[in-house]
Amino acid sequence: MKVISDLNQPTLVDRSLAAVWHPCTQMKHHESFPLIAITKGKGPWLYDEKGNALLDCISSWWTNLFGHSNPQINQAIIDQLEKIEHVMLAGFTHQPVVELSEKLAALTSGNLGHVFYASDGASAVEIALKMSHHFWQLNGKPQKKKFVCLENGYHGETLGALAVTDVAIFRKAYGSLLQDVYTVPSPDARKVKVGESAEDVAKHAAAELEKLFEKEHQYIAAIIVEPLVQCAGQMAMYSPEYLRLVRDLCNRYEVHLIADEIAVGCGRSGQFFACEHAGIWPDFLTLSKGISGGYLPLSLCMTTNTIYRAFYSDKTQQGFLHSHSYTGNPLACSAALACLKIFETGDVLKNNIARSQDLANAFGWAKIDSRVEHWRQQGMILAFDLKNEYLKNPSTFPREMFAKGLEEGVLIRPISNTIYVMPPYILSTEEIIQMGKAVERSLAKALA
Ligand SMILES: *Cc1c(COP(=O)(O)O)cnc(C)c1O
Repeated sequence: MKVISDLNQPTLVDRSLAAVWHPCTQMKHHESFPLIAITKGKGPWLYDEKGNALLDCISSWWTNLFGHSNPQINQAIIDQLEKIEHVMLAGFTHQPVVELSEKLAALTSGNLGHVFYASDGASAVEIALKMSHHFWQLNGKPQKKKFVCLENGYHGETLGALAVTDVAIFRKAYGSLLQDVYTVPSPDARKVKVGESAEDVAKHAAAELEKLFEKEHQYIAAIIVEPLVQCAGQMAMYSPEYLRLVRDLCNRYEVHLIADEIAVGCGRSGQFFACEHAGIWPDFLTLSKGISGGYLPLSLCMTTNTIYRAFYSDKTQQGFLHSHSYTGNPLACSAALACLKIFETGDVLKNNIARSQDLANAFGWAKIDSRVEHWRQQGMILAFDLKNEYLKNPSTFPREMFAKGLEEGVLIRPISNTIYVMPPYILSTEEIIQMGKAVERSLAKALA
């Protein structure tokens, strides 16, 4: 029973706004823009305090692969909790981290057989950058220390990762803190001219990269890319041909290739690793987000035996002396192992083929909507852009669309004029149809 005095109590949202500084948010917008207190989740559904259900169309920031409160992942964490919750990974090891490393290495057929752990995605990127830099010092080429990144790329927001990120809104205030990098054209397939294919765009972009390598390769340590989809960069998709060409250029010019698969890895693209679409392996591959199923912070950087051996020495200083307190946390590794087990036993990649077809069908309406352009899909990511002339106010559109989505029971967070869905893999066909219709209604309201 509700007591009268409760009416004067601040709500959870009020208290959050007073005490929690929320990420990626202009807090003042919450004067008019809703903040939702979530009390539980089940499968693809989130429930707020009032019991309203929201279909999680973006996997809670691209992390949740197998639904909220997944019984198998829950049980794996509970089982691990009975054994050891955490132990430092320097001087110690444990079953979950060993098994996870072995399984991931096997998924690359041993090409990337050494796994270094951290907790968040940006830190995994920092690790790849530092390892590459250090490798060239150890190999007598200390002048090879600059990084190349793609226009419109995103690799996280710590200072090293932000330096190789080309999304203005995240960089602008911090430019003077960031190291100098080379930025090369994105192979974004939306650039196709009449008569061209996505592969042509990839070739043009690779030709630009080659010009840079030709001139500057003796100063370049590595190039970092998001394979196939530049997710934070408005889900810009591109041809796997680009990855093949870049791999070849990296071989020819002695430059490391860093594949940041933090968003596109773990089956999101249709293969377990997005690089598999191109049939190539990078020198460094980063994973986070989906690897622990959206349960616990875990990130990692996988690398080759060549890189690993360069650091192997009697000299302490020649080791990779990087660490984070929660590196290789056993609970997080157990969650990741439970996810890999679901991939094995649940035939996830195969089933996702049918699911991505369901997604395409559910969003067929957008393909023929004259306000929409660049409808695109890569595996379990579907995106399209709204033509600017249909947006009353482009800067408030994402928030308006989010708010209308809440009314229609879907969690969506457009990036500028790009609407995308990147749902958990456990949606039923009915739920996917429901999602497509709810997004269509939300859009009608947001543009009304
Ligand atoms: C999210 C993301 C990151 C950063 O991960 P955090 O855990 O947010 O630090 C890095 N690279 C890509 C491609 C990402 O999508």
